[in-house]
Amino acid sequence: SFIVIISFYFAHFNNPIMAQEKTTEEKIDSLLEQMTLEEKVGQMNQYNGFWDATGPVPEGGNAAMKYDHLKKGWVGSMLNVVGTEEIRKLQQIVVEESRLGIPLIFGYDVIHGYKTLAPIPLAEAASWDMEAIEKSARIAADEASAVGLNWTFAPMIDISREPRWGRVMEGGGEDTYLGSKIAKARIKGFQGDDLSKPNTIAACAKHFAGYGFAEAGRDYNTADIGTSTLFNSVLPPFKAAIDADVKTVMNGFNLLNGIPVTGNSFLQRDILKGKWGFNGFVISDWASIAEMVPHGFAENLSHAAELGTKAGSDMDMESSAYVRHLAQNVKNGKVDEKLVDDAVRRILRVKFELGLFDDPYRYCNPEREQERLYHDDHHAGVLDMAMKSIVLLKNEGNLLPLAKDQKKIAVIGELANDKNSPLGSWRLASDNNSGVSFLEGLKSYTDEVSYARGPKIFNDDASFLHEVQVNSTDTSGMDEAVALAKDSDVVLMVLGEHGFQSGEARSRTHLDLPGLQLDLLKAVYEVNQNVVLILMNGRPMTITWETENIPTILETWQLGTQAGNAIAKVVFGDYNPSGKLPMTFPRSIGQIPIYYNRFSTGRPDPEPNVFWSHYVDEVNDPLFPFGHGLSYTQFEYSDLEIDSSDSKNVKVSANVKNSGGVSGEEVVQLYIRDKVASVVRPIKELKGFEKISLAAGESKKVEFVLTDAELGFYDHNYDFVVEPGSFEVMIGTSSQEGLTGHFKID
Ligand code: BGC
Repeated sequence: SFIVIISFYFAHFNNPIMAQEKTTEEKIDSLLEQMTLEEKVGQMNQYNGFWDATGPVPEGGNAAMKYDHLKKGWVGSMLNVVGTEEIRKLQQIVVEESRLGIPLIFGYDVIHGYKTLAPIPLAEAASWDMEAIEKSARIAADEASAVGLNWTFAPMIDISREPRWGRVMEGGGEDTYLGSKIAKARIKGFQGDDLSKPNTIAACAKHFAGYGFAEAGRDYNTADIGTSTLFNSVLPPFKAAIDADVKTVMNGFNLLNGIPVTGNSFLQRDILKGKWGFNGFVISDWASIAEMVPHGFAENLSHAAELGTKAGSDMDMESSAYVRHLAQNVKNGKVDEKLVDDAVRRILRVKFELGLFDDPYRYCNPEREQERLYHDDHHAGVLDMAMKSIVLLKNEGNLLPLAKDQKKIAVIGELANDKNSPLGSWRLASDNNSGVSFLEGLKSYTDEVSYARGPKIFNDDASFLHEVQVNSTDTSGMDEAVALAKDSDVVLMVLGEHGFQSGEARSRTHLDLPGLQLDLLKAVYEVNQNVVLILMNGRPMTITWETENIPTILETWQLGTQAGNAIAKVVFGDYNPSGKLPMTFPRSIGQIPIYYNRFSTGRPDPEPNVFWSHYVDEVNDPLFPFGHGLSYTQFEYSDLEIDSSDSKNVKVSANVKNSGGVSGEEVVQLYIRDKVASVVRPIKELKGFEKISLAAGESKKVEFVLTDAELGFYDHNYDFVVEPGSFEVMIGTSSQEGLTGHFKID
């Protein structure tokens, strides 16, 4: 270790370029001057973990080549390496053995926690609670940084109207305004206010852009998005991310209007780095540079390297396109070296900001690793987040909350006794079965619980890499469950999707309860109508029969480590549900895409003849609208007031009263419609919300101020315009219910 210290000293402190008085940009200048073309290209190369660095050095094959590249300084970053010990070993190779000792940046998909898991992001979005969401990301960063990581590939901020697309579980839902707020909160949570602190990590806004519009919801599929939707719905969360100082951006797998986003210089150069002035770096998605070949955009890997660099994709995740071909592309004049320099500058800048040049091992602290994982505070934090993410969809007859002394409670459904599915997908480092099941949560309240699984629906070995198999024929367990229901006072049925049924590459064409679950529900309901349906799922579902028949429905998504405790607290009324849907629930697949901020047709209303915009076999309305969510109390809205005397500060307020018997939280939502515009505006757009807490009987005046930012929109030239004229405004409890008024601006 003496040698380590000496070489570290020479590599860093004694190095004239590292002299203290230089600014970061000057330090980068001097480094760039010293770097060979190959070393520069090396910074733009990211490898997946290929070798257990605590074991013997790889010999032969791909791993040996990558190991050699590490020593040569031809690797700028690694992903999927975890643990302070391994990260330290790899960092050491680069810092001590490569010529310039430029530290690696270690990235990982820390999507909703590292070990202690928060709810899936879509669930968190349902809380509409930005403080809680920020805190949740902070917890994730605290644990991830404690195992040596300094960069997460999150948040995913793709707006999506496609519940068939499995990755909606990873995002903030369908709305750009809510999505932008969530993007900011997550980025702040991950990055903290000082990125050089060893418990903060760089965030990554992904996937830039349009991935959430994969056609027909089939993952990786093409996206065709018109300029109005692209500029007004898809891009704003990314703009918000840049404003929140996100350090990195990831592009994606998809074509956008015929051009792979990875090779898209309009997006990456003109908008992101040009108009928005982003000064961090862009990482490709997994092998998305190489994928430009099968897309039919690049001829071969060398051409893909050329196109990726020109389009502003700064770092190549696992394609090896840059490390193999980029230097040659520069030498033969196809790529200007200035583009390489710019990419490297961006990457080095983030490494400086993370403090990696001051101490490349600053994140490698085994004591902190021991101390922070599964910390008690983290359990408390994710429990709070989980309760806030639950949405009460329906509560007729007020079956919920259950009395604490409720007798004869039947719990039915495979998912009720599952410690894995509630963890959801995208939890690569987590421990299997580390969640609190619903049954466990409930049993911590009462002994009056009997459980019957019903038919076994899911295979036990499903995982991130292994698809879920669904049983649709074997009814064993059905009779036992029905018998239990018959003999119980209330039935809590836990049904939904397996935890790995949503997520990447988990597109579905049916959004009903998989397998025999609906049959089970119907059979149970026939013998006992006191049914509470507790849903666990990673996306909106077409629970139409369920909604028409079952009196009480609680949407619990996949709530992470503390799932069972969170649901039990809501079931027994120790937490009054306050979540609101961040995505519309369709009645049937044929309605998709269905979203609240749609446009009006020329014939929006039923006409006396058949020629109006409708289906012959389905209504237009969704099952549950965006923003919907009930409480154990009631909220009354009154006294809408509008003051538009100042067009730059239009004040809209309403009085909200808790008119029920218990205290509760309400998300007060504000929507506008610009009635006539040069580019037609949607029938409703969320432009404000506030989550308030009211004791029983208490009232509060909630006021929103609308400025140009809320009243304007992007035109077809991507210019932000505010046009005078009439607006409709609504303050309410969902996108479908509220007080409406009008105002004009000039
Ligand atoms: C996903 C990204 C992810 C990357 C690295 C890709 O398949 O699309 O979102 O960050 O893998 O794991």
